[in-house]
Amino acid sequence: MGGSIVLFGPPGAGKGTQAGRIVDLTGKPQVSTGDMLRAAVKADTKMGAEAKVYMDAGLLVPDSVIIGLIEERLTQSDAINGVLFDGFPRTIPQAESLAKIAVVESVISIEVPDDAIVERIVGRRMDPETGDIYHITFNPAPSEIESRLIQRKDDTEETVRARLEAYHSQTAPLAAWYSERGLLLSIDGNQPIDSVGDAVEGAVRATMSN
Ligand code: ADP
Ligand code: ADP
Repeated sequence: MGGSIVLFGPPGAGKGTQAGRIVDLTGKPQVSTGDMLRAAVKADTKMGAEAKVYMDAGLLVPDSVIIGLIEERLTQSDAINGVLFDGFPRTIPQAESLAKIAVVESVISIEVPDDAIVERIVGRRMDPETGDIYHITFNPAPSEIESRLIQRKDDTEETVRARLEAYHSQTAPLAAWYSERGLLLSIDGNQPIDSVGDAVEGAVRATMSN
């Protein structure tokens, strides 16, 4: 019953920020490969150590590692009615592998131009206790939790340029791939967080009523 939804877009597009709203609407759990990789790095597993080299350089982690992670995640019982993929797939081989193991019912693409991305990424802050995402200018945290916020190691201006390059060369072609399959819904992500959220919600509701 029900397939999976893919949240697609460049680094800093607002995928993590909007994911909670889709989870609330659909009941599908969020599956973020970035979060899974950061957990593996923190736990200092062999896979985490391998992935860290790529992540710190702003490069994509090899497809074989990512596909293995996803295959394992989808065997968990909460994935039975589909999940919300955040940051996956990021290459055509990843999308091809996904198509063999799950049904994708829609791909919501949050579009943001490169010139807005750098400021978003460099100003991003995370609450390590809740996983909530803030921005020093666009979404400031309440002052009582400010001191515990962290900045991701790869959220520097230099690394974001490499990540954008990886996005354009390896990930952006997936938009056409999903569009050819009739699954792509594009949202203007270059507007305030709540407006993007309303547009995302509209796209999800349209999918659900199909
Ligand atoms: P992604 O998961 O796509 O990498 P995030 O959701 O982490 O993106 O958002 C990146 C940064 O941009 C965060 O600091 C977030 O607070 C901020 N942000 C998200 N959406 C918007 C928006 N519509 N306008 C301005 N800033 C935003
Ligand atoms: P953002 O959307 O803000 O760029 P993520 O948290 O999704 O960041 O990803 C952080 C890093 O983890 C990426 O730069 C990349 O190195 C790695 N990564 C995450 N998801 C994937 C994926 N599906 N394929 C390859 N690498 C990935």
